[in-house]
Amino acid sequence: MNTRIIFNAIMLASVLMLFSCNNESNEKCCSEENQKQTVIKETTTKDDVISQEEQKSLTPDDVIASLKKGNENYVNNQLTERDHKDHILKTSEGQYPQAIVLACVDSRVPVELLFDQGIGDIFVARVAGNFVNEDILGSMEYACKVAGSKVVMVLGHEYCGAVKSAVKQVKMGNITAMLSKIQPAIDNLEYKGEGEKNYKNKEYMHQVCESNVQNNINEIRLQSPILKEMEEKGEIKIVGGIYDLDNGKVTFLN
Ligand SMILES: [Zn+2]
Repeated sequence: MNTRIIFNAIMLASVLMLFSCNNESNEKCCSEENQKQTVIKETTTKDDVISQEEQKSLTPDDVIASLKKGNENYVNNQLTERDHKDHILKTSEGQYPQAIVLACVDSRVPVELLFDQGIGDIFVARVAGNFVNEDILGSMEYACKVAGSKVVMVLGHEYCGAVKSAVKQVKMGNITAMLSKIQPAIDNLEYKGEGEKNYKNKEYMHQVCESNVQNNINEIRLQSPILKEMEEKGEIKIVGGIYDLDNGKVTFLN
């Protein structure tokens, strides 16, 4: 009898333990599931693709603020989590980018990343030395006049190989013609710093980079009546910036 009672008690305890374990693991499982769902929710609401209505409601200053905030996130290593699969689907039938950025081809200047922008957020045009020509200007006019972007940005960068080669007067194949597009930045610069005007002088090279950005902003206004008019009407802003390879920071030029 006693043995039977003890046996039953052991069985009951085992069943209770088993039930309690299952219950615990169910709770754990459910709470993990909830966490997963929460993360996905946060990702899609934290940063969604830009809709046509949102693009229309943005001012050029809003877009500049978004680029500045994005660069701050990048510098602080706090990039926005994005559900790329979801964004690919959502942008497949239309795009409403807020800006077009002209940058160098340099692999150390990842344009979308350094502004913390996702799929469909910005147009990017790239050419070594970030200068405009007919094709780039056509792309900028398309971005603003046709596709509704509010900002044109020319983004130069420190330690630019193309700018350095232009200063060094490198001649080679098609590179010669390409570098001639950067020459006005060198010719137009009234160098105010110390040291000689050569590629070894860091301060001089910095000023040539800035001069190149400024020169191309002037060229956009000169060569594109469409963009010039849009800027005068306040529909867009044309801005410049320099990307610092040492710390990832973009300095916006006045
Ligand atoms: Zn470059």
